[in-house]
Amino acid sequence: MIGVADPDTPERTAELTERLAAVRGRLAAACRSAGRDPAEVSLLAVTKTVPPADVATLIDLGLTEFAENRAQELAAKVADVAAARPGAEPRWHFVGGLQRNKVRTVLPWVTCIQSVDSPRLARAIDREVGRLRGSGERDAPLPVLVQYSVDGDPARGGVPDDGLDELADLVAELPGLELAGLMAVAPLGREPGASFAAIAAAAGRVRERHPAARTLSAGMSGDLEIAVDHGSTVVRVGTALVGDRRITSE
Ligand SMILES: *Cc1c(COP(=O)(O)O)cnc(C)c1O
Repeated sequence: MIGVADPDTPERTAELTERLAAVRGRLAAACRSAGRDPAEVSLLAVTKTVPPADVATLIDLGLTEFAENRAQELAAKVADVAAARPGAEPRWHFVGGLQRNKVRTVLPWVTCIQSVDSPRLARAIDREVGRLRGSGERDAPLPVLVQYSVDGDPARGGVPDDGLDELADLVAELPGLELAGLMAVAPLGREPGASFAAIAAAAGRVRERHPAARTLSAGMSGDLEIAVDHGSTVVRVGTALVGDRRITSE
């Protein structure tokens, strides 16, 4: 087990280097055993609760895609990382539950919102993109993923199966949004193979209706292999990359 050293120290850099190599090794092995091209699967670093100095180190190590799940923390984190690594252009994804009144807080900083799980949220994002386009602050639709709920549990977010087609169709229609694909979190306490098969089927259904929606964001630290085996194109990895900061710092 690799430890968790203080940020901005040679020990922490060595640790992040080792963790990243381990995650890349797992991804490469998963692609090999699934018979997939490793270039098809990208690594998204989930940096919630992680200090900006660690994000800066991960940028130095070659990562470009990062994700946060709290609207309130996003802007400060983006600013701190930009100050630490001026000129680097990390791309930020939003992967958390998003209230409609927080859309405006999040939108200036993100290249993708992965957690669109209701028509009301989709419309709210579309309206805000429209406002930014009207004032010349944005010139393109925002890529988004529809978040799918495997078990329909409203506590975890995600659109239940019976609302998926309608939500995907709406997102595809709204002028401010670009439907890029589907995101899902496999619920704990369920057989992961069955969960990822359901997620893959849902992604396939969306792609059948909207062929450009090719992204499948599925798989985290504990289950990235099985996600890759079921067609994931983006794995969202936190703990395996950075350690469990929340537990060690509290
Ligand atoms: C925290 C988080 C992850 C990363 O989870 P780990 O198990 O730490 O890799 C992935 N996706 C979402 C939506 C998250 O909130």
